[in-house]
Amino acid sequence: MPAPIFIGSDIYRHSSYGGRHPLSIPRVSTVMDLARALGWLPAAQYRTSPRAKPAALTGFHTPDYVDALMRAEAEGAVDAETRGRHALGTFSNPVFPEVFRRPATGAGGVMLAAELVREGGVVHVPGGGTHHALSDRANGFCYLNDPVLCILHLRALGMRRIAYVDIDAHHCDGVEVAFAGAPDVLMISVHEEDRWPFTGRLQDDGGGNAFNLPVPRGFGDAGMALVRERLVLPALGIFEADAIVLQSGADGVTEDPLSRLAMSNGAHAAMALALRTMSPRLIVLGGGGYNPWSVGRCWTRIWGALNGFEAPARLPLEAAEVLEALTWSGRAAGRSPPPEWKATLADPPRQGLDPAALSRQIVLLEARLPGLTDRLARLGEPERASRAGPAPHRHQA
Ligand SMILES: [Zn+2]
Repeated sequence: MPAPIFIGSDIYRHSSYGGRHPLSIPRVSTVMDLARALGWLPAAQYRTSPRAKPAALTGFHTPDYVDALMRAEAEGAVDAETRGRHALGTFSNPVFPEVFRRPATGAGGVMLAAELVREGGVVHVPGGGTHHALSDRANGFCYLNDPVLCILHLRALGMRRIAYVDIDAHHCDGVEVAFAGAPDVLMISVHEEDRWPFTGRLQDDGGGNAFNLPVPRGFGDAGMALVRERLVLPALGIFEADAIVLQSGADGVTEDPLSRLAMSNGAHAAMALALRTMSPRLIVLGGGGYNPWSVGRCWTRIWGALNGFEAPARLPLEAAEVLEALTWSGRAAGRSPPPEWKATLADPPRQGLDPAALSRQIVLLEARLPGLTDRLARLGEPERASRAGPAPHRHQA
C-alpha cells in the first residue's frame, strides 16, 4: 500500500468563524505544524487541498444555496430572506471572510482524497468532516457537507460499497439524510445521547442502512473498544466496503467543551487503525473539536498512527512550542492549560463508564447485522470475486 497522504491548506491558518464562535480556534494548522515538527509530514506525503468549483458542489447542494454562499462571501453579509432560507448569517453559521472558500477547500480536499485512494490507500483530510450541512442550508457550524460529497465522488469513481463511520460527539444528521435507505452506503454513528441535533436515536435506521448508537455521558475508551469490536468491525466484515470514510470528530474527548463524553485520543487512533484493515481504501476526516489543544493533538496522533509512529512520551521542544503558542480566549482553561496539553501528544487511556451499560443497545444493533446481507443482495452485484479492483483486506480478530 502506498504511504498515507495528508491533505491540508494554509487557509485554515488565517480563517476564523469570529471571536465568540467555538470555531474561532486554529485546528488543521496545528496538526500540520505539529506533524512537521515531529518529522511526520514529509513533503512527499503532503498535498495542498484544491478549492472545489461551484459546479462540483451541486452534486449534493442546490445551485441556489451555492450561489447564496458565494454571494455571502462577496458581500460580507446576507439579507433576511437568505438568512431564513439558507440559515446563513446566524450565530452557528456566521458570515466570515472565507465563508465560501473555506468550506469549498474542505470539499475540494475530500474529493481529491477520493481520487487518491482510487487504486487503494489511506488519506487524512482533517479539514473535512462537516457532517451537519444540508443540501439547501447551513447547519451546526457546517456550510458544505464534505462527507456527502466525498461519498458521492467515491461512488462516481466506481466504488460499489462505501461505509461511513462517524465517532464525532454529535449525530451526523446531514449524512444520514443524504443517503437514507441507499443500499450501497453503510452508515454507523456513535454520538452522545440527548445532545444537539437530537437525531440518530437507537431505533432510527435511516431507511435500513444506518446504525445509530447514542451513548451516555462518561462514555470512554472501554465503551468505544466494545462498540468497535461488537458493532463496527462485524458490520464492516459483512459489508466488505470498497472504501471507508471515517469522520473522526475530536469533540468526544474529555477536555472538549461541547460534549460530556470522556474518551482519550487513543480511542480515535485505535478506530482509525482498525478500519484500515477492513477495506483497501480509507479516508479519515476531521469534524468537531473545540479545545485547541485536544483537537490538534488528537488529529496529529491519528496521522502518526496511520504512519506507524508511536506518540513520544514527551514532545520534543519544537513540537511542544507549537502547542505552547496556542491561545483559547474566553475560556477559563485557556488561561492556565494543564501542562500535559502542551507537553504530550497521547492522552493516558481513559476507560470511562462500564461498557456493560451499553449491552442492551449493542444487542439491539447486533440483531440487525444479518439484515445487512439481505440489503447487499439488493445491489444486484455479480460475485465479489469478479469485481474489478483489489480484494478487501479481512480483519484478523
Ligand atoms: Zn461534533
